Amino acid sequence: MRYQPVMGLEIHCELLTDSKVFCSCQNEFGGSENTRVCPRCSGMPGTLPLLNKGAVKLAAKAGFATNCTVHNYSAFDRKNYFYPDLPKAYQITQFESPICTDGYIDVVGGKRIRINRIHIEEDAGKLVHDDYEGISLADYNRCGVPLIEIVTEPDFRTVEEVQDFVVQIAQRMQYSGVCDARMEQGSLRVDVNISLMPYGSDEFGTRAEIKNLNSVKSIGRAIEYEIQRQSEILDNGGEVVQETRRYNENHDDTKALRSKEEAHDYRYFPEPDIPPVLFTDEEIEEIRKEMPELPHKRFERYTEEYKIPAEDAKLIIAQKAFSDFYDEAVSAVPEYKMISNLMLGEVSHQLNETGMSIDEVRFSPADVAKTAEMAAKGVISKGSAKDMIVIMFEKGGAPEDIAKENGFIMDNDTSGLDDIIDGVLAAQADVVEKYKNGNEKLFGFIMGQVIKAAGKGANPALIKEALTAKLK
Ligand code: ADP
Ligand code: MG
Ligand code: ZN
Repeated sequence: MRYQPVMGLEIHCELLTDSKVFCSCQNEFGGSENTRVCPRCSGMPGTLPLLNKGAVKLAAKAGFATNCTVHNYSAFDRKNYFYPDLPKAYQITQFESPICTDGYIDVVGGKRIRINRIHIEEDAGKLVHDDYEGISLADYNRCGVPLIEIVTEPDFRTVEEVQDFVVQIAQRMQYSGVCDARMEQGSLRVDVNISLMPYGSDEFGTRAEIKNLNSVKSIGRAIEYEIQRQSEILDNGGEVVQETRRYNENHDDTKALRSKEEAHDYRYFPEPDIPPVLFTDEEIEEIRKEMPELPHKRFERYTEEYKIPAEDAKLIIAQKAFSDFYDEAVSAVPEYKMISNLMLGEVSHQLNETGMSIDEVRFSPADVAKTAEMAAKGVISKGSAKDMIVIMFEKGGAPEDIAKENGFIMDNDTSGLDDIIDGVLAAQADVVEKYKNGNEKLFGFIMGQVIKAAGKGANPALIKEALTAKLK
């Protein structure tokens, strides 16, 4: 490829407040059309907005989660446009003085992506088009849902950097309680701005903006498609038009929505009905103190202090509730690796099978910790530890009791073991012969026979030791 892609992101996150941003309607996904509306959020004349303080606080937290400066002064503006999804005919947003600026996140390869700003705004409603009847219907439930928009500098050069950034934003917002970051439900939506320039150039090309991507995978595919499309235009001596495009998952392509020529003149002006948002340094510090440990810090703790492999640590931090569960378990018993293995192994497997989430299970972090401890001390085998998890999913119960009731407690008394091994070696004399003649693979078979003969509670580690000694 002859061109260097350049990308910048605009990410919208719906804030996890109880009510909408300028009225007291419930802020909740779903519901029948136009049931979560009131005169204010449906744009009735004469109504006045009242700013939701909780939304402002969450926007500040988003700033702390992304290394931004959170400002003592920020203010709202009106962005004017006519479209039926916006009953007031203007959107209240922050234009001149956003609440947060100048942040960054480090992505794969240690590259720093600069964040230009984070501002607060209200969401618009939804239009449902019925092509068959030739009509469009408006649902205003989403009107006035509080949003933040995170705007980056055009610092991305690869798909991997973009995808890593989006995953990190989603996790950081989830950890901070800012947004549930469910891309498939649209609570986190990504617009990708992308342009190409010849390698070695430092003059950016004209960009296209791909709107409302709703999965990390779509982001990757939409970028790949755009690189292809723009390369062909440039190869043929043409010019990329600055425009907004929509990615279609089914066709795996992007189509123009509107070009800059017909772009709106938003005629921004200061919102006269909302006073500026003023914070003292102390108030900002109070909010900062409420910040939880962020996922990238947890990742460092898991890999550096607990020596968990990076791939495993990534999986644990992916969901906050899962990571919280892990943290509670290792604080009960510091068997970091064993607990991680159990949780990423049988616990995750059972969660997938049952469709449960980690906060719905019948057992506690301490139960997993106890199970891991018993396996680590050789009280039960690692295989039994897995079986214990399955039983805990089905019925719950104290790990010690489950282990006893199911005969998982290993017999660590080796006195009878010699006889059992001798018996097996005699019965399998020909196999033993082959093993001694160099077929080392047969060890597993002989080992299996001894375990079988020794019964359920046998300790594989001790058997292996004794058998190895005998076969020397
Ligand atoms: P506008 O005000 O027209 O929306 P912005 O300067 O706010 O433009 O940029 C919007 C987004 O586009 C930002 O994420 C920015 O990083 C990105 N961007 C700007 N110029 C380019 C470019 N030439 N190529 C790719 N992305 C760009
Ligand atoms: Mg913009
Ligand atoms: Zn309302």
